[in-house]
Amino acid sequence: MIRQGSLVVVSGFSGVGKGTVIDALMKKSDLYAYSVSATTREARKDEQHGREYFFLNEQQFNEMIRDDELIEFACYCDHYYGTPRKFVEEQMRLGKDVILEIETQGAEKIRQQYPDALLIFIMPPSGAELKNRLAGRGSESEQVIRQRLQRAVKESESIEDYTYIFINDDAGQCAEKMHSLIQAQRSRTTRNMPVINAIRSEILAFTKGE
Ligand code: 5GP
Repeated sequence: MIRQGSLVVVSGFSGVGKGTVIDALMKKSDLYAYSVSATTREARKDEQHGREYFFLNEQQFNEMIRDDELIEFACYCDHYYGTPRKFVEEQMRLGKDVILEIETQGAEKIRQQYPDALLIFIMPPSGAELKNRLAGRGSESEQVIRQRLQRAVKESESIEDYTYIFINDDAGQCAEKMHSLIQAQRSRTTRNMPVINAIRSEILAFTKGE
């Protein structure tokens, strides 16, 4: 009997290293599926259509909204980002835990639609370390770093809406802790109703001498 998979939302400030943590997490189980989002922002060099994102123009994105093909979408820094419905629903039916790397407004919409979703927020070890990591990328101006830190202040107001936080001190260890948590969630009662009901019926049948 296949147990329905679940949704795992992973958010975190720009520069916290969520991408590295998620890459390490994905390697830990075949039962993880990564949801590739749709976006209207330009592809950065090294990004591939269908791998990092589905890069769409605004008309294509609006068509997806109109046809109810996105579970959630949000505007972030003047661009739209959204989670395609079909892949997520298919993978959950196959029993996969689907990982959504999305920002806080999208996370809230997922929480409303899927009360069982696991909401994880990845934190830096300290504010100073976040600033160092952003500066350490070397590609961003002082002004962009300041903008991202301002955005982090705003996003930090939503942290209480998440179920768990993990501190990304070491990406490998952070992924290991997240993996343990997601595995433990597989034993939640609400995620095992088909097997619970099957065993209940079986026992009941015995009492009736069947
Ligand atoms: P970036 O442009 O740096 O790749 O992503 C910007 C922000 O958009 C990040 O916080 C990322 O988590 C978020 N994001 C990526 N995909 C989605 C999505 O499908 N929905 C929402 N709501 N946010 C997303």
